[in-house]
Amino acid sequence: MSSFDVTIIGSGPGGYVAAIRCAQLGMKTALIEKYDTLGGTCLNVGCIPSKALLDSSEHYHNAVHNFEAHGIKTGKITADIKQMIKRKADVVSQTCNGIKFLMDKNNVTVFNGLGSFVSKTQVQVTGKDGKSEVIDSKNIIIATGSKPNYFPGMEPDKKRIITSTEALELQEIPKKMLVIGGGVIGLELGSVYARLGTQIEVVEFADTIIPTMDRTLGKELTKVLKKEGFKFNLEHRVQSVVNSGKKVTLKALNKKGEEVTFEADYCLVAVGRKPFTDGLNLEKAGLAVNQKGQVEVNDHLQTSVPNIYAIGDVVRGAMLAHKAEEEGVYVAELLAGQKPHINYALIPGVVYTWPEVAAVGKTEEELKAEGREIKVGSFPIKALGRARASMDIMGLIKIIADKQTDEVLGVHMIAPRAADLIMEAVVAMEYRASAEDIARICHPHPTYSEAVKEAALDATESRALHI
Ligand code: FAD
Ligand code: NAD
Repeated sequence: MSSFDVTIIGSGPGGYVAAIRCAQLGMKTALIEKYDTLGGTCLNVGCIPSKALLDSSEHYHNAVHNFEAHGIKTGKITADIKQMIKRKADVVSQTCNGIKFLMDKNNVTVFNGLGSFVSKTQVQVTGKDGKSEVIDSKNIIIATGSKPNYFPGMEPDKKRIITSTEALELQEIPKKMLVIGGGVIGLELGSVYARLGTQIEVVEFADTIIPTMDRTLGKELTKVLKKEGFKFNLEHRVQSVVNSGKKVTLKALNKKGEEVTFEADYCLVAVGRKPFTDGLNLEKAGLAVNQKGQVEVNDHLQTSVPNIYAIGDVVRGAMLAHKAEEEGVYVAELLAGQKPHINYALIPGVVYTWPEVAAVGKTEEELKAEGREIKVGSFPIKALGRARASMDIMGLIKIIADKQTDEVLGVHMIAPRAADLIMEAVVAMEYRASAEDIARICHPHPTYSEAVKEAALDATESRALHI
């Protein structure tokens, strides 16, 4: 029987990063993955393929809508969805192969097959051919991730009632697509198809889109997406979705309790994801999942069995690739006797619409609910010279600071390249900067980052310069 210092079950961003760090720290490391390719949800059916399609559809949208204003004349422009999907598949394949390379480089032993606990220190790996072997490990990290969630009445049939996984593989541009859930997946994948000409109609339970983010962002993003042709039906409770062959019919109750019917070619179900532990045989290790289906862990990501840890989407907290990665590094360093730390309060969140949405820290609603005395500064993107040059004029940056100390408590933005811009705020907040600290830093001109400085100036003493 092969034996290891640490065995990781699941090769997503949590698992593969944990494997690299364990190996770097001198541990004999095994990684088990049930699929043929490494990288988990993120690389295969999540972050990477969705961004590949977002980029392709954005190029198409710009070519159709913006090139002429820039003085670029093209012939008739058409979208070739099959080529877009093929390019996406190439990007995914290169990225997944990159992980295989990293495992080889770091001497991580990769097992292809389903990992199931035999005991607290043994895991059985069963390959597709049914053959199995048992490996012995001093420590085990569960990194089995998550799967799309759905509620009764909206069960995906994966043909016309689809999840994000199928939406990344469509071979045609739908005329109309219903999207249940105005969260991250619904708006990102909705954007892909809206840009290609699909009529997107969102059916959302809450009274705003991206309901967990600062309200200002939902409001501004609604304006942006309506310009792209999105229709929004907020405060709608979905009752049923039926695939009748060539179309889907969705019935929902609006806030007055009236039944509303929608029809479309496809319905994308994007109402969150649920932790995945099927086939793990947790009970053989003396473990069970909680009511949310998560593996329970303490502050050190340790389960109730001391040598078994769990990280990423399968445990509490944001279901984000970078959070999973941080947790992978954390457990590896803990196992090596180090004293790692994760600042969960400063995990940035991004929605890759265009312009992008990004945030870190607390929302204005959260701070008000806490009774915190705050001041808010904001700056519109359209006031930037850089924005006019690029014709990207939608969005704003909002900085919330403590009224007395001026410490930055939350930064919320919808702006071109917000996914990258947010890191200035994360660094500032990690070092507990004040709004004035940010305002006094020299920002390059002309850049979108000037809006961060201006919002900080506005928060400091309402002394933004360019408005
Ligand atoms: P996963 O990536 O889910 O990996 C778990 C792995 O474990 C899988 O490969 C699975 O096959 C394997 N596994 C499960 N059980 C077993 C078993 N018993 N034996 C062997 N292997 C097993 N996050 C971001 O931060 N940014 C984004 O832009 C972003 N975009 C996304 C877009 C979409 C469409 C989706 C669906 C998700 C997106 N996410 C994004 C979320 C991100 O993908 C997840 O948060 C991240 O992948 C979680 O990593 P993980 O390692 O916990 O699990
Ligand atoms: P989400 O939690 O972002 O959004 C789900 C939306 O569905 C919410 O707006 C919610 O109010 C709504 N909803 C819930 N139940 C509903 C119902 N019955 N009827 C109508 N609406 C309903 O979840 P998601 O978009 O499915 O994404 C899943 C996870 O994947 C998220 O946790 C997210 O962090 C991660 N993800 C991240 C990114 C990124 O970082 N850019 C991209 C995609 C996915």
